[in-house]
Amino acid sequence: MCIFCEIIKGNIPSKKIYEDDQVVAILDISQATLGHTLVMPKNHYANLYEIDDNTLSHLIKVTKMIAKHYKEVDPTIEGINLLNNNEEAAGQSVMHYHMHILPRRKNDDLLIQFKEHQYDLDDICNKLKIKA
Ligand code: AMP
Ligand code: ZN
Repeated sequence: MCIFCEIIKGNIPSKKIYEDDQVVAILDISQATLGHTLVMPKNHYANLYEIDDNTLSHLIKVTKMIAKHYKEVDPTIEGINLLNNNEEAAGQSVMHYHMHILPRRKNDDLLIQFKEHQYDLDDICNKLKIKA
């Protein structure tokens, strides 16, 4: 059973912000920041690797529309993070693709911290670059 599929079918309650034929946006039950929202495809795709490209591009457009709408209706929002976790190691807990929209305010308590590492950039680039 997929909890987001059940939400989409209406079998589990949710606070729906937006819906069209391809995607649904709901308030995240955890509210990591005020207004924390999840945008998900109506069809089940486990993650970024599986989601159909057309659905993904539509979902990104809807995400942008919602982000701009939030800024319009809530002047306390000073910034917005987007986050998409893929696989358990990356923090994914619900295996139905979703994009987090995280409205940010200067004194909120969400911590997204990048630490610096002294890795060799040439090595990494050689390993990871996409050959034309
Ligand atoms: P992730 O860790 O990226 O897979 O995110 C899953 C998110 O789903 C978490 O932020 C949860 O708080 C959220 N979540 C889990 N169950 C529900 C639910 N029934 N309604 C709304 N959000 C949920
Ligand atoms: Zn699902």
